[in-house]
Amino acid sequence: CSQMSISALCLIWALSPLVTFLDAQKAVIEDFAMNKNKREREFYSLDVGDSTFTVLKRYQNLRPIGSGAQGIVCSAYDQNLERNVAIKKLSRPFQNQTHAKRAYRELVLMKCVNHKNIIGLLNVFTPQKSLEEFQDVYLVMELMDANLCQVIQMELDHERLSYLLYQMLCGIKHLHAAGIIHRDLKPSNIVVKSDCTLKILDFGLARTAATGLLMTPYVVTRYYRAPEVILGMGYQANVDVWSVGCIVAEMIRGSVLFPGTDHIDQWNKVIEQLGTPSQEFLMKLNQSVRTYVENRPRYAGYSFEKLFPDVLFPADSEHNKLKASQARDLLSKMLVIDASKRISVDEALQHPYINVWYDPAEVEAPPPKITDKQLDEREHTVEEWKDLIYKEVCEWEEWTKNGVIRGQPPPLAQVQQ
Ligand code: AMP
Repeated sequence: CSQMSISALCLIWALSPLVTFLDAQKAVIEDFAMNKNKREREFYSLDVGDSTFTVLKRYQNLRPIGSGAQGIVCSAYDQNLERNVAIKKLSRPFQNQTHAKRAYRELVLMKCVNHKNIIGLLNVFTPQKSLEEFQDVYLVMELMDANLCQVIQMELDHERLSYLLYQMLCGIKHLHAAGIIHRDLKPSNIVVKSDCTLKILDFGLARTAATGLLMTPYVVTRYYRAPEVILGMGYQANVDVWSVGCIVAEMIRGSVLFPGTDHIDQWNKVIEQLGTPSQEFLMKLNQSVRTYVENRPRYAGYSFEKLFPDVLFPADSEHNKLKASQARDLLSKMLVIDASKRISVDEALQHPYINVWYDPAEVEAPPPKITDKQLDEREHTVEEWKDLIYKEVCEWEEWTKNGVIRGQPPPLAQVQQ
C-alpha cells in the first residue's frame, strides 16, 4: 500500500508541472474565447462601399463622407460621447513602407498634438484581438462638415476668407513649433465647419519621404507643392506658405492656380504665371535640374493685379476694395518662387489682411513635444511596422482604460511621458 502511494505520489509529482501547464493552457484558451466573445459582442460589421467597417457598437449610423490615400472615412454617432464623430479605417496600414510610415507617424503625432486648428483624436481601436491577427486600425476624430475643396466653390466674403486663412496659418505655426514641416497641404486635407472653424487633417510628408515620381500608385495631388519640393531643393518652414498661397488663390479664383498634369507640367504652370525666376534662384539648383529649368521657354509672368483682378473679389464698398488690395498684397508675398524672398508664417500672421484675428492663445499655444525623435527616419520591415502600429493602438487602449475618460483624448502631460 505504502509502495503504491509512493508511486502515486511520484506520478503526481511528475505530472504536476504538466497539470499546471495544462490548467494554464485551459485558462488561456478560456480567456481567449471569453475575450473573443466579448470582442465580438463589442463590435459589429457593415459594408461601406467596397470596404467592411468593423467598429465598436457605441458607433452607430455610419455613412461614408470621404476617401483618401489611406482609405474610407465615415461619419457616425458616438453613443458614449453623445456626439457625431468621423471614423477613418486604415486597412492593413503596415502593408508597405509608404502606408506604414504614414499611418504610424499620423497615429503618434495625432496623440501628441492638441490645437484647435489640428484635427483631434477621440479614439483608436482595432477589432482584432492579437498581434498575429492584427489587420486594421480605426481612428475616431472630431467630425467636421466639409473639406476645403467643397468650400472653394462658394463665394466667400473677406471676413470668412481671411478667418480661414488665419486658422490655416495658426495650425501650421503650431506644427512648425513642434518641428513638423508639412510640405503637402492641400484643400482635401483641410476641413471646416459651418461656423467657419477650420482644422488641418494630416501631418504631411515625413522628412525622409521621397516626393519623386513612381512612389505610390495612388494619384498624388501636386498642385500645391512649392517650387523647392517640385525641384528637389532644400526647404524651410515657409515651404508651407506657398501651399497656403495656392489654396487661397484657388478660393479667390474658383479654380486651381497651377493645375500641372505632372511634375514637369507643374513647373511650367508656375513659371507661365509668375515668370521665369532670377539667375540668383537658378544658381541654387543642382546641375541637372538647373539645366532643365534653364532650357524651358522664358516667361515674363503677370502682375498680381492681372492674376487676381478686382472682379474676382467682392468690391461693393470702400472696405471691400481695401480688403481686396490687402489680400492681393498678401498673395504676392506668399506666391514667391524663391523661398528666401517669400514671407514667413509669422510675417503672414502679422499682415493687415490677417492680423485682425490675431489671438496670442491661438497663435502662440505651447508646442507639443514629440516623443519619438526618429519618427521620420524609421525604416522597418512589414512585421516590425505591424508590431509598432499595434503597440500604439494597445497603448491608447491602456490610456483609455486607466482612468482617462473613455473616448476623450488623454491629457497632454500623460501623452508626453
Ligand atoms: P483623409 O483620408 O484623411 O485624406 O480624408 C479623406 C476625406 O475624408 C477628406 O478630404 C474629408 O473630405 C473627409 N474627412 C476626413 N476626416 C474628416 C473629419 N474629421 N471630418 C470631416 N470630414 C473628414
